[in-house]
Amino acid sequence: MFDTLQDRLSATFKSLRGKGRLTEADIDATCREIRIALLEADVNLAVVKEFVAAVKQRALGSELSGALNPTQQVVKIVDEELVAILGGQTRTIRWAKKPPTVIMLAGLQGAGKTTLAGKLGRWLREQGHSPLLVAADLQRPNAVTQLQVVGEQAGVHVYAPEPGNTSAADGEGERPTGDPVLVARRAMYHAQQKLYDVVVVDTAGRLGVDAELMQQAAAIKAEVRPDETLFVVDAMIGQDAVNTARAFAEGVGFDGVVLTKLDGDARGGAALSIAKVTGRPIMFASNGEKLSDFDVFHPDRMASRILG
Ligand code: GDP
Repeated sequence: MFDTLQDRLSATFKSLRGKGRLTEADIDATCREIRIALLEADVNLAVVKEFVAAVKQRALGSELSGALNPTQQVVKIVDEELVAILGGQTRTIRWAKKPPTVIMLAGLQGAGKTTLAGKLGRWLREQGHSPLLVAADLQRPNAVTQLQVVGEQAGVHVYAPEPGNTSAADGEGERPTGDPVLVARRAMYHAQQKLYDVVVVDTAGRLGVDAELMQQAAAIKAEVRPDETLFVVDAMIGQDAVNTARAFAEGVGFDGVVLTKLDGDARGGAALSIAKVTGRPIMFASNGEKLSDFDVFHPDRMASRILG
């Protein structure tokens, strides 16, 4: 992902090399090239416009002086603006003052939520936490089993409703099967009793955004009152990623974004627009099917990667 963007930007900067001084025409031409590179990479149009305007203003301004040569200064400006659209600072989990910290995952079906629950579980365990994964995706037939499998791989416990077993959830008498809000409530009780310090709640997705999905996710959110709601999005789905992010921001609300499938060969620019469009930071990135293919997202490292 991002190879084409990388190639185009480096060609743009190469054409500036050797120039002692950049004229306004040079800067105009460079900004045009950057605009094309970003649009070709599928970055959201509004984000591109704002990005190019900021680069141009800074490049024309007083910044083109000092120790760096003009080309290096333009690269530095582009780098800083890329970091800014990617959310600026690295941001990880905000821990609850009183455990457990609750992390809820929301997104479309196939975005990679269940896989991510396993990845987060493993990551949390490595950091000395004691996480509990909660199977509140009761829509997809295999989702509960899939979470149990990834939980086992990650060495992390999974709270799941036992089909038809009313005693599955600590004997409060109600039957959790079929109602994800009830499962979530039971899971929170279970986590408090058993002293898990982080609860990761996997929720159901649909193939497309719909009202029922939003209501269910919002109801689970109201029940578990997460410290972090993470919107999980497949970076391969192009501009739909931006549209879906907007819909979830409105319908459910989220605190951070997780980009998945960054190992894919899509152009990827749309995913890079999400932080800017929603005003929420990208917090984690997933780049493969293995539980270890996962890391905290660092805007500065991603910008450096894009700039080659
Ligand atoms: P959910 O419906 O949101 O729970 O999505 P799943 O966790 O079931 O993931 C859907 C598919 O995407 C599965 O086949 C996963 O193995 C795959 N997947 C998840 N994350 C990644 C990733 O970062 N890279 C790749 N290549 N595949 C992924």
